[in-house]
Amino acid sequence: MRQIKVPFLRSSEIDKAVADLLRRYGTWRNEPTKPPIDVDEIVEGYLGLVLEIADLKSLLGMPDVLGATWFEKRKVCVDQSLESNEGRFAFTVAHEIGHWQLHRPLLEMETMTLSLFPAAADAAPTVVCRARESKAPAEWQADQFAARLLMPASAVRGTTLGICDGKPAAWDGLDASRKAGVLDSRLRSLADEVIAEGSFSNVSNEAMCYRLLDLHLVEDTAAVQMRAF
Ligand SMILES: [Zn+2]
Repeated sequence: MRQIKVPFLRSSEIDKAVADLLRRYGTWRNEPTKPPIDVDEIVEGYLGLVLEIADLKSLLGMPDVLGATWFEKRKVCVDQSLESNEGRFAFTVAHEIGHWQLHRPLLEMETMTLSLFPAAADAAPTVVCRARESKAPAEWQADQFAARLLMPASAVRGTTLGICDGKPAAWDGLDASRKAGVLDSRLRSLADEVIAEGSFSNVSNEAMCYRLLDLHLVEDTAAVQMRAF
């Protein structure tokens, strides 16, 4: 299996790719898209791909595999171990959508210039996605895509500012806990509130914590004071 070589993408380019998909999906559905974002329906309904749950760990002989996508067979597979965990399941599906949207066009171009033989019916997946491996650029991009798809910025911002009286939360010691690699307990509670209030029912607490940090909806008090000077 090869690593997909991908060009660098700016955050704003990933933002745009997700916004385009959400808009086209909303048009297809004939109503504005709002959370929870039904990623299963995007895969099977809007994109017209096959979505399967399988024992990928045995099938591919990898103990930490989460999902895989076959571009030619138009198939997305999620490991059965994630079936009982809605947040991780939806994130994996959204991550595979990221590969489909961001990386399939690149490989298609490559394939045309290489004149490959037709793939065998049992051909290996085009991409295999594993837990916590050092993230190759393609994997990082698919994760960024997934976070934006399940937690659109405008919906997260609107919900959070509604909870926090119209401005980002500012807390002492937030940067220290980030440096220590710990998710602050105040951040975890806020993430729970945002999930409940904004109907992000297929998002894990951890994923929402990182999204709130990413969108600067929670900040360290010291950073806010620095800006005031
Ligand atoms: Zn991946």
